[in-house]
Amino acid sequence: MNLTLYLTENCNLRCSYCIREKCPNDMTSDTVRKSVDLAFSKGDTAGICFFGGEPLLKKDLICYALDLAKKRSEETGIPFSCKITTNGTLLDEEFLELAKKNNMQIGLSFDGLMQDDCRKTADGGPTSETLEKVSKMIIASGADAVVMCVVPPCSCGKLFGSVKYIHDLGFKHMICNPAYGSKVTWTDEALEVLKEQFDLITDYLKELYLKGDKFRFAPLHNKITENLSGINPSRYCHLGIRQLAVAYDGNLYPCTSFLYKSEWCLGNVSDGVDEKRRLEMTKLCFTPSPCKDCDLSKRCTNSCGCANIMNTGSPDMISPLQCEYERLVIERADRLGDELYKYDKDRFIKSFRRA
Ligand code: SF4
Ligand code: SF4
Repeated sequence: MNLTLYLTENCNLRCSYCIREKCPNDMTSDTVRKSVDLAFSKGDTAGICFFGGEPLLKKDLICYALDLAKKRSEETGIPFSCKITTNGTLLDEEFLELAKKNNMQIGLSFDGLMQDDCRKTADGGPTSETLEKVSKMIIASGADAVVMCVVPPCSCGKLFGSVKYIHDLGFKHMICNPAYGSKVTWTDEALEVLKEQFDLITDYLKELYLKGDKFRFAPLHNKITENLSGINPSRYCHLGIRQLAVAYDGNLYPCTSFLYKSEWCLGNVSDGVDEKRRLEMTKLCFTPSPCKDCDLSKRCTNSCGCANIMNTGSPDMISPLQCEYERLVIERADRLGDELYKYDKDRFIKSFRRA
């Protein structure tokens, strides 16, 4: 089974939009060992995502988990995969070696040209220079990496420039989401700027596609793939089915968005998964009532309980910002899809259709 390990609640950065409390609570090596055992105890594959806070503050635990997982994989014959979500500031050559050796996918939280506006060190210093250096190191190493960019309203006018910058650094895959939560306010003016930036990005992606460049900008490219392949994006919500989150204290939750909400706790790595509760959870439907009659319902992430709880505090309430964002993305994805389809139908289908 797949587990996301919340190795620490601590972080060396203080991003202004971050809603996570920073506390010196770290996972123990005993909890890591029990987590690895749990990952190998169910299903045909085992996967671990190292998460936090900043997981690279606990490199020793990552090495320990990887050693154990390798042993368990050899003993059981169960294939193992791993990922990390990191702010990148502590990433070095040594860790990149380890990542490559273990085929670890690196999710690099990096806001491109917007980086220094919100992503600061604990003493308020900039981080963009470090991230540029680290990015070049990652690209040179050939490690599997995806850039995860958060767009704050204060600097959303730099999004298009940031997409170009990330592309020019050599990354092939970028995910982006607006900053959500109590620490940011999206005004109508900022949303207009975001729409204009997405128009520019749409034209840019068309230009890259026509040149044969395989750069993938998830918000638009995923919507095209999902539409063409009849995939409802809410199916990506793994709520308690395909993965569980392990808190630093070993308690299990359906996703990192639910951490420490006792009503959603699904057991503990010491006592195992509460399967009855887990089964009940998989049957819950989180489609918010305003979405039930919306034409975009099947193309929108409105039923993702994890996204909803993170954005509104409730699994079946959609945030107005998320609704607006979904609409703006779908509109641009449809324009891009139409233009690429008209250009070369066969190539379009080959590029975007998934089984
Ligand atoms: S790096 Fe991540 S966990 Fe750390 S402050 Fe920034 S958003 Fe929060
Ligand atoms: S676009 Fe808005 S109303 Fe429509 S399904 Fe998505 S979140 Fe719901």
